Amino acid sequence: MATAETDLAAELARIKQARVVKSFCYTCPWQCPTEVYVRDGRIVYHKGNARAPNNIGSRCAKGMASWWVTEDPDRLKYPMLRTNPKGEPGRFRRASWDEALDFIAGKLAGIKEQWGPEAVAFTCHHDPNTVFYWHLLRDLYGSPNMYTHTSGCEQDRRSACLTLFGHVFPMHDFINSRYVILWGMNNLGANQGLWESRELIEAKKRGCKLVVVDPNFTETAQKADEWLPIRPGADGALALAMCHVIIEGDLFDRDFVSRHCEGFDGFREHLRERGYTPEWAEPITGIEAGRIRRIAREFATTKPAMSAIFKGSGYYTNGADAGRACYLLDAICGEVDKPGNLVLKDWAPLGAPVEIPEDAKAAPSKDPLHVAMGYPLAPDLPNSRLPDAVIDGNPYPVKGLFVQSSNPVMSDPNRDRVKEMFAHLELAVTCELFMSETALESDVVLPETSFYEQAEIRQGMWKGPEVVLCQPAVERVGEAKPAYEIVKALAEKMGFGRYFPYEKWEDWGELVMKDVPMSLDELKEQGFWAGEMRYHRVPEGLPTPSGKIEIRSKQYEDAGFEPYPVWSERSVKPDADFPLQLTHSKLSMHCNIITQNNPLLMEICGENWVEINRADAAKYGIEDGGYVIVESPKDRIRILARVVEGLVPGCVSVRHGHGFGHWAMGSVARGRGAHSNNLMETHTSPVTGANCYNECKVRVYPAQVRADSRPRRR
Ligand code: SF4
Repeated sequence: MATAETDLAAELARIKQARVVKSFCYTCPWQCPTEVYVRDGRIVYHKGNARAPNNIGSRCAKGMASWWVTEDPDRLKYPMLRTNPKGEPGRFRRASWDEALDFIAGKLAGIKEQWGPEAVAFTCHHDPNTVFYWHLLRDLYGSPNMYTHTSGCEQDRRSACLTLFGHVFPMHDFINSRYVILWGMNNLGANQGLWESRELIEAKKRGCKLVVVDPNFTETAQKADEWLPIRPGADGALALAMCHVIIEGDLFDRDFVSRHCEGFDGFREHLRERGYTPEWAEPITGIEAGRIRRIAREFATTKPAMSAIFKGSGYYTNGADAGRACYLLDAICGEVDKPGNLVLKDWAPLGAPVEIPEDAKAAPSKDPLHVAMGYPLAPDLPNSRLPDAVIDGNPYPVKGLFVQSSNPVMSDPNRDRVKEMFAHLELAVTCELFMSETALESDVVLPETSFYEQAEIRQGMWKGPEVVLCQPAVERVGEAKPAYEIVKALAEKMGFGRYFPYEKWEDWGELVMKDVPMSLDELKEQGFWAGEMRYHRVPEGLPTPSGKIEIRSKQYEDAGFEPYPVWSERSVKPDADFPLQLTHSKLSMHCNIITQNNPLLMEICGENWVEINRADAAKYGIEDGGYVIVESPKDRIRILARVVEGLVPGCVSVRHGHGFGHWAMGSVARGRGAHSNNLMETHTSPVTGANCYNECKVRVYPAQVRADSRPRRR
């Protein structure tokens, strides 16, 4: 049936003389459903899919500029093989797909024979087509080491959510909330979902109180009713003190905790025994005890409410328990999976794209790396520990590595160590859009297609169950291939071709969609499927060991950790030589490594900067708009300075998103801005294996050269 929206799409297509391809944007992980208008093989217009429940037609600047990736002359166009020894700046020659895949298949066979299949690992950003690689390398080749990039992202949030609620991560029902606390979470300034940001703003208009806990006066803090300028790495202390106030004040939800929580009474004793009072928390957090009490009482008595975390609280070695403590505020107040709360969303019933019989699957011979490394609670590989396996053989040797759509040489701390790791690998394969810094350290570089040139079917990032589809809209760049074609061809070289029998993407698409109440043809027509959004899953029982919210965590206890969250100091503290704590925040115009070579986005935001408090700037002779050196005990970077009022004194904040391309990445990105990852030594969460990007002390001093241009003011 025609609707105003379908009429609009048809009219736009007529005006543009274009065909419309329903798709989604994968410039960032929020994958907004889109309509792509294509004429003569080029994208002439694109907009959000107004019928989709998440973005309802809207897109952010990154998404609007994303068509550039289909025309970028710096894209990888054909496979390449390394011609010089690793450890030197990479030199490559063009290869055919046949030659490149023969090389990979031969190396894989040799590694398996000499070291076992577990000596090959796979890491990626998180592309659903990654599962093709996993089916080949895990199910058939036999490696248990199939991972994504979570330890550089939201590892601690994921671990907290899994151990408490048995759910991988929550969605946020801001629109129905009346009190929201965001811990180190910058929805309005970083890469957060458009629908969540819109609902947060709408909730505020309806009277919801927004409290932001962050050392930095971020874009979200600027819109908040209250900003709590906490000292870096102190979130856990503040959350535990708030739990103490709520429980001792008898403000918790007695009925909810008795029915649905495991270990509440023990938690009350734990808080008492440890003395986690507001007065205890005040000198740690820099937040006055009376204010802690007031916020705790407001949170407990205003319903519905939500305490939410993302990455900010997790960039410290104490981040795992900080995350648990922040979510325990929700649990003890009975604020889980009801309207206005964290939502433990239902997933769509997506199937696997290939059917591999059980008796054809290889049995893993060893524990996966994260378990063997001593991180059984890690939801993903502790990436910053991978060099230990490759260079030192600890816990066991890793000799082959696949990297897909991620750039660990730049995104993991301690770049020197990560580059050294690549020099030790017998086989390093990078599957990418650009010649990234990681590709330059590899043996083989395979050009993958972008989301405008390939099909993908994946879980939608809406709070109800959702499927989103992207389908090929334009011709591929050069000889680039999608993952499903690369894996099929590699499987044939390895003798597993019969398990990848599809000829076109619709063949595996039918399998993926077989349990979804929508046909593949309908999905191609509509671009998404959305099921019923529902709440109240907690009484149904949760997939935790007890079936309840685990305030006392059996999984923590079994792994040898304290079953209740405890406070510990962060690992690295400033001293007389390096008097400032390095922290990070993100930029709304950039994401991952797909935006830095986009001239549209670089015109808006072409360089990143470090923020420093006005008092610290005066102390160290820093001028707003001047270049400075940020120096740690390990390395130094040259970067623009922004002098701000809204940053806790004693720390600096690097706006992250540039500094790629000093050696690679394309002509637009090259040499723009600075990247901070080599300032850090390797610090890893002892519980989750998360990368601790904020465990770094620095000093800052003028670099003598005045900036030609300044970054836009926030
Ligand atoms: S929020 Fe992410 S997925 Fe949505 S339009 Fe922006 S970049 Fe694309």
